[in-house]
Parts: sequence; structure tokens; C-alpha cells
Amino acid sequence: MRSISIFGATGSVGESTYDLICRAGGAQTFRTVALTGGRNVARLAEMARVLRPEVAVCADDSCLPALRDALAGTGVEVAAGDAAIAEAADRPADWVMSAIVGAAGLVPGLRALRHGRALALANKESLVTAGPLLMATAARHDAQILPVDSEHSAIYQALVGEDIAAVERIILTASGGALRDWPLEALAQATVKEALAHPNWAMGQRITIDSASMFNKALEVIETREFFGVRPEQIEVIIHPESLIHSLVGFQDGAIMAHMGAPDMRHSIGYALNWPARAPLPVARLDLAQIATLSFRAPDLERYPALRLCREVMEARGLAGAAFNAAKEIALDRFLEGRIGFMDMAGVVEDTLARMMPEMCLETDAMTLEDILGADHLARVRASEAAAALAARR
Ligand code: NAD
Ligand code: MG
Repeated sequence: MRSISIFGATGSVGESTYDLICRAGGAQTFRTVALTGGRNVARLAEMARVLRPEVAVCADDSCLPALRDALAGTGVEVAAGDAAIAEAADRPADWVMSAIVGAAGLVPGLRALRHGRALALANKESLVTAGPLLMATAARHDAQILPVDSEHSAIYQALVGEDIAAVERIILTASGGALRDWPLEALAQATVKEALAHPNWAMGQRITIDSASMFNKALEVIETREFFGVRPEQIEVIIHPESLIHSLVGFQDGAIMAHMGAPDMRHSIGYALNWPARAPLPVARLDLAQIATLSFRAPDLERYPALRLCREVMEARGLAGAAFNAAKEIALDRFLEGRIGFMDMAGVVEDTLARMMPEMCLETDAMTLEDILGADHLARVRASEAAAALAARR
């Protein structure tokens, strides 16, 4: 029986993963090792009652009594907190979904890779903060990382049977997010609610705001560089409002392979679950005659400063990715709290990077987890200061 674990089971990607696992037979087909969630204990317990994992873990001790009550008599072990989540990742499973949001997903993913199985990676932040470490850990333990971000799954699929040396360019598509058609001057006033109205994809709150600011795409550019090992100048971003082409790979003979499908994460999750085979998936089929046209436009860097900042991060490499991601997480928190404006998020990140640049120059190959967590921590402190300064001026 194939064994699986889902980290971040109660989130948007986690729910889609759970849905596919249940459709494929649930506890009849899979032996579930670990399910982890945040504070939504009721939902985590519901999933655990269906999949019967060895262990269910919630984010912190305050949730533990409720989780214990909800799973009493089931034989499912319960635990809470970061250490318990990491310990759950030490329990070997054939296929592990990494779908915790943010830098919190890094350690469980790294620990799971040490068992040399397949890690379905939705948590792009782990590649951004610790790409070289993650890839080296996978190689050392003969583990497979399967990208779950729709763009990276698309690129991965376009590269099957191809030589990466024959790739000229990788083109990431972006919807442009909720504020795509707003006048540039109005963006500074955009509210959380407005930034959350994503035109095509239903996702977690954080990634939806990151889509509107294109910080999500900036993370994905770095993710592409780290995962596929191409040069930064080979990676392009194009706005494609329909979100039907999930990304494209251009080869040296001029051919371009595009990956198309409905904007439904269950495609890329299902591809990773069934890899290297393909199996039927419950996603909508495209009616091309009805779609009729696809459109594209170049992104405006003034509107999306994140796309400029990610280039600086790739240039510096070392700990710059960790600092970039952490500063972005703080900036996003402050925006969600209503303390800074929508365009201030890029200001916070830019300021943090500028202040930290001298401290981040480290040989990329020599980076340890401690270095990365240190840079993450420092960037959170610096970004909080930058955000406080901006908030005081509002
Ligand atoms: P989400 O916010 O919906 O869910 C996140 C999950 O992680 C939840 O189970 C939550 O309880 C848990 N979690 C949050 N903080 C935690 C912490 N500190 N410790 C332990 N658990 C914690 O997020 P999502 O939209 O499902 O995204 C998950 C990851 O997948 C992110 O890295 C995101 O960038 C990536 N991703 C998401 C989508 C999408 O369609 N939602 C698409 C591509 C990539
Ligand atoms: Mg994506």
C-alpha cells in the first residue's frame, strides 16, 4: 500500500490534495502517515477520521486539547507545534505533500527529503529561501522533488524527454492578479478585500494577495531558477489574463512547448501524485472553440516592483532569497493588518534588501540551514522596522 503524508492539509492546496486522495480510494488505497494543519482543528480532525493517519499535528499547543478530544478513540496520535511537525516529517512516507504556506514549510520539506522519497512541493518559499540546500538534500538522498506550483508543473511536463541544455527560455505566465486593470495611481489605495478578488484561481489568502502584487510571480521566477537550474536571464514573465496556458518552454530550435488546462490546482497536484504515470483527474476540459482567443501582454515593472526585486535577489543569491521571502512575509502581514498600503509592501522589501545586502554575501554552496534561518529572522526584524517607519508616515 502506498504511504502518504500531507503537510498543510487544511489549506487550499491541502484540501485539493485530500480531495484527490479520497477520490482515489482514501484509506482503502493509501496508508496515511501524517496530516498537519494550523488552527483549524475541526477540519484537521475530520480529515484524520477519514484517512486514519498515524499522527495528526496542529500548529500550536493551544489547539492540542481540542484535537485530542476530536480524535479520542480513533487511535490517531495527536501532537502540536513546529517540533512535532518536523518529527512527523521524519516518519517515512512514499509521497509527501509540502503545502504549508511560508518559510514554515522549509524544515518539514527538508526532513522529508532525507528519507529519499517523493516530495510534492507546493511550498515555493522553500526553494526561494533554501534552493541550493533543498536540491542538494534531494540529490544526496536520491529523493524526487515534484513541483506542484502550476507554472513549474507545466514546465516540468514540457521538459519530459528533453535535454535542459536545449532550453533557450522559460516563460512564466501570470494572471496579473486582482488589480491588473487598475490605474497605476490607484494601487496605493487598494484594500485587502480588493486585492483578494482574484480573477481566475481560488487560493489561500496570502498567495492571492501575492498574485495581485506579483510577489508570487517574483517568488516563482526564483523558484524556476533554483529548481530547473537555468540562468536568470533565460526566465521571462508574461501576463496572460485567461490563465489557461500555465507556462511555456522555448527551445534552441525556436519551438515553444506550452502547457494548457483549466486553472485548477488538482491538475498539478494530481500529476505529482500519479507521476510518472498519468491518470484521469476531475478537472474541467477546455473547449478551445468557445475560448476562441488567448491574450498576452508584457508586465509593467513600475506597477510590479517585485519583478525587478527578484532579479536583484538572483544576482546576489546566497542568503538574499531567504531575506527576500521573509521581508515579503512581514510586509504582507502588515498589509493584511491594515498598517501599510498595497504598494508599501514592495517598499518594505526593497528597504530590507538594501540594508541587508552586505550581510547576505555568502558562498551559496556553503549555506547551512542555520545561516538561512538566521537570515530569515534578521530580515523579519529589519522588515518590521521598515514597515513601522512607513506606517508612521501614513
Ligand atoms: P493556505 O493558507 O490555504 O494553507 C496553508 C496551510 O499551512 C494550512 O493548512 C495552514 O493551517 C498551514 N499553516 C500555515 N502556517 C503554518 C505554520 N506556521 N505552521 C504549520 N502550519 C501552518 O495556503 P495555500 O494557498 O494552500 O498555499 C500553500 C503553499 O502552496 C504555499 O507555499 C503557496 O505559495 C503554494 N501554492 C499554492 C497554490 C494555491 O492554489 N493555493 C498554488 C501554487 C502554490
Ligand atoms: Mg503558481
